[in-house]
Amino acid sequence: MKLNDPSLLRHQCFIDGAWCDADGGATVEVRNPATGQPLGQVPHMGAAETRRAIDAANAAWPAWRKKSAKERAAILRKWNDLILQNAEDLAVIMTSEQGKPLAESRGEITYAASFIEWFAEEGKRVAGDTLPSPWPDRRVVVTREPVGVCAAITPWNFPAAMITRKVGPALAAGCPIVVKPAELTPYSAFALAVLAERAGVPRGVFSVLTGDAQAIGAEMCANPTVRKLSFTGSTAVGRILMQQCAPTIKKLSLELGGNAPFIVFDDADLDAAVDGAIASKYRNSGQTCVCANRLYVQDGVYDAFAEKFVAAVRKLQVGNGLEANITQGPLIEEKAVKKVEEHIADALAHGGRLLTGGKRHMLGHGFFEPTVIADVSTSMRVASEETFGPLAPLFRFKTDEEVVQLANATEFGLAAYFYSRDIGRVWRVAEALETGMVGVNTGLISTEVAPFGGVKQSGLGREGSSYGIEDYLVMKYICMGGL
Ligand code: ADP
Repeated sequence: MKLNDPSLLRHQCFIDGAWCDADGGATVEVRNPATGQPLGQVPHMGAAETRRAIDAANAAWPAWRKKSAKERAAILRKWNDLILQNAEDLAVIMTSEQGKPLAESRGEITYAASFIEWFAEEGKRVAGDTLPSPWPDRRVVVTREPVGVCAAITPWNFPAAMITRKVGPALAAGCPIVVKPAELTPYSAFALAVLAERAGVPRGVFSVLTGDAQAIGAEMCANPTVRKLSFTGSTAVGRILMQQCAPTIKKLSLELGGNAPFIVFDDADLDAAVDGAIASKYRNSGQTCVCANRLYVQDGVYDAFAEKFVAAVRKLQVGNGLEANITQGPLIEEKAVKKVEEHIADALAHGGRLLTGGKRHMLGHGFFEPTVIADVSTSMRVASEETFGPLAPLFRFKTDEEVVQLANATEFGLAAYFYSRDIGRVWRVAEALETGMVGVNTGLISTEVAPFGGVKQSGLGREGSSYGIEDYLVMKYICMGGL
């Protein structure tokens, strides 16, 4: 890997301000999904190292919370600047371990930094309240305090942004945090820690450790010192973590699976809808939790949309994300490829019509042809399961009521998208969709200024925006008597 600053590529964990190996020296290999080549070995840690990181966070907490918000903001601001100054190296590290095209990695680094910048500022605006008192001799005061030691578990699809979206608000609010990144993409996390250290984040305030997900997760959940857990990943793992946090009644943020509907009404601007569908479906080769998973197209424009959409899909360029003009990197691992294959086979066996793609790409590894299937119906697996890959299934619908009912017929409720120019329909459908986020006439909705999160089994809490810091704060009511 060619980096301007090779010291950003670390092969150790960062605990209590020190770079360290696992207690017994165990390591695990990390591979480049585009080539299958090893990138290096990282520590395989467990419960004992996790406890050490949590204890270090607890020891660092009093001094960190005592700093003024402005002092914390100055450190965060410096971290943001260092991330942006090193964006190219961070993007190369990300593409090498995750596979997404370099342009997307650059975009994610900017997006990742934006959470640190945003929360550095937002931390200064954590205000309290004085409420009208029912007593003449007492005053009712509400303050907001940092929740305490936080723990975070993050996924591989956004190796940097899912970390800063949690660490930014935690640190800004005055909380220390211990992060376990996904075992497939640890190097982006370590690089962020290198820059946090350079920015002056005190020892223990931000630790990063890799290893046995179950052992680390179990310790984070069971340890009473940890007051809050923030998780981004699958609904299945979210359920386990929620159960494991029950004995210690932890505050929880869960950003879980999605099964986003993408609806094209007959009055839509079809070219805009095609652009939006490509952006929403094929970003990160379909591996984002807000990716369109089910495309519903109204009867009158179904064939016209399908034709334009397939033409656009055929223009996508599959290949190693480090090469120029590539828009589709490999899927993260073999398991992910198999799931896409299964969904395609199931859809075709039940009457789906293959319009383009449909199989592994000739480049091998995790590369897969961008695929579109028409005549998809509700009995197929793609209707209810998140594919998390480059497969676009096209469902046909007739009425608004029908499509809203279909869109909501899932246990998930993260994002939804639709295209229409009719203002009445826009409001009715936006209000009827049971999701935490709705994109109207756009396929891209993520920004640090807006609240990201889901309803139903897509999770709890919101990340980003002025609401996002709430997850790291607790309220205290002080009754001021003796006046
Ligand atoms: P994905 O399907 O996107 O890989 P996962 O939910 O499996 O989603 O993984 C997201 C994160 O959760 C990763 O960091 C992974 O290591 C972690 N993880 C997986 N299983 C567990 C578990 N039982 N306890 C704690 N963390 C887990």
